[in-house]
Amino acid sequence: MTDQPTREDAPRSCTVGEDVLRVHELVGADDPRPKCGAGEGETVDEWLRAVNCPECR
Ligand SMILES: [Zn+2]
Repeated sequence: MTDQPTREDAPRSCTVGEDVLRVHELVGADDPRPKCGAGEGETVDEWLRAVNCPECR
């Protein structure tokens, strides 16, 4: 038994392309994208970090 959050219930966030400072809320399962729609067509990197994108919050 562990207190560590599982991947499934952890907040999902991501960065897009080369902008690694802005952390977006991640939506979608099969094709995860930032909630605000940033970085259309750019690479999405998933993180377990606090969302700081004002358009996603
Ligand atoms: Zn965003």
